[in-house]
Amino acid sequence: MSATTSTTSTRMDHMTWEDLDARVKTGVQGGPPIVILPTGALEQHGPHLPLGTDAMMPTMLAERVAAKIDGLVAPTLSYGYKSQPKSGGGNHMPGCAALDGNTYTLMVRDLICDFARHGLTRIVLFDGHMENQMFLTEASDLALRMLKAEGIEGTRIVKLGYWIMIDEPLEEMLFPEGLISWELEHAAVMETSAMMYLAPDLVRADKIPDHPPAEFPPYDVYPFDPHSVCHSGALSSAAGASPEKGKALVEALVPSLARQIAGAFGMECA
Ligand SMILES: [Zn+2]
Repeated sequence: MSATTSTTSTRMDHMTWEDLDARVKTGVQGGPPIVILPTGALEQHGPHLPLGTDAMMPTMLAERVAAKIDGLVAPTLSYGYKSQPKSGGGNHMPGCAALDGNTYTLMVRDLICDFARHGLTRIVLFDGHMENQMFLTEASDLALRMLKAEGIEGTRIVKLGYWIMIDEPLEEMLFPEGLISWELEHAAVMETSAMMYLAPDLVRADKIPDHPPAEFPPYDVYPFDPHSVCHSGALSSAAGASPEKGKALVEALVPSLARQIAGAFGMECA
């Protein structure tokens, strides 16, 4: 890799400390470059998608978004909070390895604090795993309290899921016959299409599930009985997925996510 490439890289872990320091000092539109922390999970994603889907999706999108806003991508947090039966199939399924809420919260809190201590005070928590959401909120709150006590002011944290910019036209493109529910979209049409486009070698096209949506009672039970639901790990059919849908989704999401993120820091997006 040439020196030019390393100083214009979006990936923090590919940069030297001097490259990073120079990027922080040069700044972007009146502040440090935005640093995006992709947050995911190691969670089953049906018989056809890899366990790392929720980490890979925000990572691949973050790299494309960062290129548009002159930002940085921190190494992905590839483990997250426990998969829940109604949104991820459940943490009992083989391959799911997750963190307790407290552990996860403190990991994110510590990373936010260290970014800010080194001048990276524009931070994006870019989530790919719904179960992480409130722990990211808690981590942000604790980090801001800790930074304030240290006298480090001006940190701004923006939290979003990569899916937030899926609007009605995109929804119609993905589900021409109608969306059943976003909660049951785990390992279904949206994620499968995106992965078919972004990481086709990791998708087992011969194993794409086609079955009715999982059914759950309107309440939660602890301990969860894994035999109470029968599903493949996907919570609804992924048969309608295609790489063409994935391409259209990614090409629409990247510029709108870049615009939203830049706007959240009062920046213009090219
Ligand atoms: Zn997922």
